Amino acid sequence: MKKFVCVLLLIGSSYLYAQTKILVLGTAQDGGFPHLGCQKECQAAWEDPSLRKYVVSLAVIDESENKWWLFEATPDITEQLHHFQQWTNKKYPFLPEGIFITHAHIGHYTGLMQLGFEAMGAKSVNVYVLPKLAAFLEGNGPWSQLVDFENIVINRLTENETIELTGDFQTKTYRVPHRDEFSETAGFQIITSGKKNLFIPDIDKWEKWEFDILEEVKNNDRAFIDGSFFADGELADRSMDDIPHPFVSETMNLFEDQPDSVKSRIFFIHFNHTNPLLWDATTRMKVISAGFNMAVQGKFYE
Ligand SMILES: [Zn+2]
Ligand SMILES: [Zn+2]
Repeated sequence: MKKFVCVLLLIGSSYLYAQTKILVLGTAQDGGFPHLGCQKECQAAWEDPSLRKYVVSLAVIDESENKWWLFEATPDITEQLHHFQQWTNKKYPFLPEGIFITHAHIGHYTGLMQLGFEAMGAKSVNVYVLPKLAAFLEGNGPWSQLVDFENIVINRLTENETIELTGDFQTKTYRVPHRDEFSETAGFQIITSGKKNLFIPDIDKWEKWEFDILEEVKNNDRAFIDGSFFADGELADRSMDDIPHPFVSETMNLFEDQPDSVKSRIFFIHFNHTNPLLWDATTRMKVISAGFNMAVQGKFYE
């Protein structure tokens, strides 16, 4: 009997041990928070560094394989990889097994430079990107030097294809509509042990996407999605038509008639410094009481 219980315990603990989880490493839009030239909304964060939000990034950790992957190489990568070690009690290798990148806007890929010759001089870090972004990195300095010196190894992803990284971690790549000056833009489905997570930090508008966001959220357990701006008119000195994003208020309206079990799957992320979700408790309450969530930097999602 004792032996039987032991075996059961072992099976149970190995099941728990096999859990793959997500750790949020940053929640801000490309410019970060506090933001260059921002005084009013950023005042508290300038004074209290603990209020700082790093640029949008996720870590996916497979405990049983002792490996982890990074989603987005942000300008804050130095701090984010340092905090990754602290938040995980230094249980995993310093560098990720691979880096998935959505697109060539500054918040999402420029952190790669820290892996290069002038900085860390990393060896053969796998970088997963769609073909146009691959060609952009290979064909333009300083990124091309990272490829030439084999600091990074480019792995080309295919639209709508699922790849298996470990038995407990697969990812599917979507193409999403966005201002594609230098590359196309990807979104990812991150499939961990028993959980499906959508990750679309940047998209122009939901209605421009070939997939229905309502159905996609229903088909996933969690959705870390574009929360750049709270509402129209948020930018005083720039036309918001030039930088289209689904406003948080728009996405909330779209899901208004859905049950709480669906709304609660949404975790807004990629907040611009003007978005009151970063600095105003009343607005945050409005989103939470309507049944939605904001992704939290430093939090594990199992
Ligand atoms: Zn962005
Ligand atoms: Zn972008």
